[in-house]
Amino acid sequence: MNAPTDDTTSAKPSNFLRAIIDRDLEQGTYASRRWAGTPGDAAHHAAGEPDPAKIRTRFPPEPNGYLHIGHAKSICLNFGLARDYGGVCHLRFDDTNPEKEETEYVNAIIDAVKWLGFEWTSNFNGQAQEHLYYASNYFDFMYRAAEYLIEAGLAYVDEQTPEEMRANRGDFATPGKDSPFRSRTPAENLARFREMRDGQHADGSMVLRAKIDMASPNINLRDPAIYRIRRATHHNTGDKWCIYPMYTFAHPIEDALEQITHSICTLEFEDQRPFYDWLLARLAEGGLLQQPTPHQYEFARLNLTYVITSKRKLKQLVDEGTVSGWDDPRMPTIVGLRRRGYTPEALQLFAERIGVTKSDSWIDYSTLDIALRDDLENKAHRGMVVLDPVKLTLSNWDEVMGAGHLEPCTLPALPHPPEGQAAPPRHFTIGKEVWIEREDFEEVPPKGYKRLFPGNKVRLKGGYVIECTGCVKDADGRVTEVLATLVPDTKSGTPGADSVKVKAAITWVGVADGVAAEVRIYDRLFTDPQPDAGGKDFLAALNPDSKKVVTAYVEPSLAAALPDQKFQFERFGYFVADRLDHQPGKPVFNKITGLKDGNWAK
Ligand code: ATP
Ligand code: MG
Repeated sequence: MNAPTDDTTSAKPSNFLRAIIDRDLEQGTYASRRWAGTPGDAAHHAAGEPDPAKIRTRFPPEPNGYLHIGHAKSICLNFGLARDYGGVCHLRFDDTNPEKEETEYVNAIIDAVKWLGFEWTSNFNGQAQEHLYYASNYFDFMYRAAEYLIEAGLAYVDEQTPEEMRANRGDFATPGKDSPFRSRTPAENLARFREMRDGQHADGSMVLRAKIDMASPNINLRDPAIYRIRRATHHNTGDKWCIYPMYTFAHPIEDALEQITHSICTLEFEDQRPFYDWLLARLAEGGLLQQPTPHQYEFARLNLTYVITSKRKLKQLVDEGTVSGWDDPRMPTIVGLRRRGYTPEALQLFAERIGVTKSDSWIDYSTLDIALRDDLENKAHRGMVVLDPVKLTLSNWDEVMGAGHLEPCTLPALPHPPEGQAAPPRHFTIGKEVWIEREDFEEVPPKGYKRLFPGNKVRLKGGYVIECTGCVKDADGRVTEVLATLVPDTKSGTPGADSVKVKAAITWVGVADGVAAEVRIYDRLFTDPQPDAGGKDFLAALNPDSKKVVTAYVEPSLAAALPDQKFQFERFGYFVADRLDHQPGKPVFNKITGLKDGNWAK
């Protein structure tokens, strides 16, 4: 990543992590590091060289699902810190659990991080290097580290049943009890551990445990399991192993092998930090790792109202068909948000605004929508649509304008074009028939109603002033057509001039050049602001109206949209041409969000 300018560093709001990094850089905490060579990374660094990266952070997803908005916070944080401090952020697949990892997820995670705008390359001394790692490439080292702990009397093979182990672990109030296998000699333990590795014991029949302190007030230090037997084919190492390291053992080692300086994780790992430190200190004492070892820092995870951020629960929504897939536009996954129309810029802005803290809190969903609007306000082209169409006929059109005549109209696509640039124009036509919103006509107007009712004048936005003369209804009394006349300008006598004053301008689309479009109106997926808090059944809070599909009419500039192009539909909000289903001429749009929270024109 490029070296930062002083400007970028000082422009960022400070937070406790930046304060820690500032301190470490000032004190040269990591200045003495020499590159030791990460397995799978030999070509990238010459061993023994000073590390040119000022800091190293990492984003370590487990490839067992698609990334969500919470991960986006972590990605923006880790890659952002590396970018701002002349460091590198590693993308590391934490694929130590053989059961759940899938290549589909690996590819989706790579796409998501790239799409968010980050890369895992460094560029020191004109040499570009990739920093994409797989924890499973470190299995050999992890195995050696485990044997070292056994030889040093710091680990033992425990043959208690899982139930016995649980019972003997104690709880917050009761200290644990030593396992009867705890006093075996290193030689016995080593022999047993090798038997485990060689497939001589059944899955679950024994585990390797660190030997720390069964009476520790921190239960994570009561001889945590570090290796287990599991006969499962691993996506990377195949059937080479039938024993796999536990996450709490593997993760610190992964960080250390990659010479991470600041290992940033969410608060629930705070109680794991003593074991993280214990393990790295022991391996450094044994000469397996160099000092200084990485440090773990915890920050508050993102909780967003109306959203669940658990891969397992999101997977359940997908597997049970509650949503159409991981990229359903209602999903808080990065692919879902992308398809919904949220931009990488908006997500980065959101991450910056919510900041990082050490205390858990809930962020209001509107924060995300405000970031989206702030990003699109001056970028998204405007356009008119009619979402709930009824036909309006201008009964004096033929007489005033000529039968079959279509009058060209233009409006700017951007009300505030970039400085020095002209606003791009949108072209459309007006004719005898136009589509208007059904709610813009009332035969008997409620108090204060300013739109169409018999005798009232309004402007068709970007077109003419018209006066409503009545409507046509079907046998059920439903309005099937609204009738109006063009109002000639009081001075010139021609339609279109501005001297007729009206109280409302309504949106419309010409019948002649409007194009029918599928518009998917999305709302929040859950009705409960904290759908899964406190173990609640989140499925009970599903919003039955989270998706509504309407056939709308859109003006020609919208019908010509490219997939993924974002727009502001005047009066309704921000919409995107669906990445997958939209085709020019056969438009499909997703609603991203309204113009503001709450409804238009109450
Ligand atoms: P889940 O529990 O949904 O499976 P996870 O935390 O186990 O999520 P990982 O793949 O292990 O998923 O996460 C990768 C990184 O993303 C971790 O460093 C984790 O701390 C971070 N992360 C996950 N969820 C959030 C969140 N809601 N807010 C901030 N960071 C998060
Ligand atoms: Mg995890």
